[in-house]
Amino acid sequence: MKAIVIEKTESRQHSGIKNLDASELPDGDVSIRVEYSTINYKDALAITGASPVVRKWPMIPGIDLAGTVEQSSHPRWKQGDRVILNGWGVGEVHEGGLAQRANVKGDWLIALPSVFTTRQAMIIGTAGYTAALCVDALVHHGIRPDDGEILVTAASGGVGSIAIALLAEAGYTVVASTGKTSEEPYLKGLGATRTIDRAALSESGKPLQKELYAGAIDAVGGNTLANVCAQLRYRGAVAACGLAESPKFPTTVMPFILRGVTLYGVDSVMAPIAIREQAWERLARDLKVDILESVATDITLSGALELANDVLAGKIRGRLVVDVT
Ligand code: NDP
Repeated sequence: MKAIVIEKTESRQHSGIKNLDASELPDGDVSIRVEYSTINYKDALAITGASPVVRKWPMIPGIDLAGTVEQSSHPRWKQGDRVILNGWGVGEVHEGGLAQRANVKGDWLIALPSVFTTRQAMIIGTAGYTAALCVDALVHHGIRPDDGEILVTAASGGVGSIAIALLAEAGYTVVASTGKTSEEPYLKGLGATRTIDRAALSESGKPLQKELYAGAIDAVGGNTLANVCAQLRYRGAVAACGLAESPKFPTTVMPFILRGVTLYGVDSVMAPIAIREQAWERLARDLKVDILESVATDITLSGALELANDVLAGKIRGRLVVDVT
């Protein structure tokens, strides 16, 4: 079986494609023939070593996979089942999806929704499923389409692209913040009504600014998240999931105590199965095939290695889907 393997010596980390024997994989109660994986921002951090994502070496990266069960001793899964895995430390502490086989815990899997192929599920991947978790947070907060505009930051990235499509399909008016102003047609094609330049949010600003947005989805952190909080309307909410700008959050309590703003933290890695299934139900119901195709770029395992630096530089639009076969 072919796999990307990350190895570490005392002085450096190396990522390359290797031919492994399936017996070299860790134990798991379900063995999967992987068909597609993805490159998320976190996978790019792992492959390049830019951040300490990997905590065990050697490691097969890939926080996502979709494929077919080959063997199972888990009560929920049998040979032939089509499954998806997102997160749970796979690609970080347990060998991941950028390989032709994976042995995993059956408790980590969810059934592939019948409307999707394994490729389409991986166009969505952790980025898209996290976008759905963020949309669910805003909907459960009680924000309705007629409450006002919803801001999506890192709009042309994986989380941002799928978040725009899901919000637009649910009837919300979406403002897309992006560093790629040339991608305005793409973002409007996903359902954004207008775009703003992300530079307008990335400088340090006052903790309370003009109230603009009913809600927001932020994958950026740093000054951007602080400015988003400062621009939310009274009792608005932001679902924060990322740190593409910075892990820092330089603001004050003012938006929270004077405007009743709510900050929802969104984690995809350890989210309980019921929450995941709800998110995948939204994705299956609201994502149209033409939208999925418009965000997808198909690559191979070697393409994943070549493009990891471009992902971290914010140069990629939408989602990279990896055919591992
Ligand atoms: P992508 O690589 O697909 O997209 C990242 C986007 O962020 C870029 O395309 C760019 O969009 C924007 N960006 C890049 N650099 C900056 C910067 N300095 N300031 C502002 N924006 C920037 O990543 P994903 O969509 O997969 O992930 C986005 C973030 O969300 C990452 O930090 C990731 O780790 C996090 N994440 C967290 C999850 C969780 O469980 N909490 C799950 C999934 C992702 P543009 O040019 O349009 O501004």
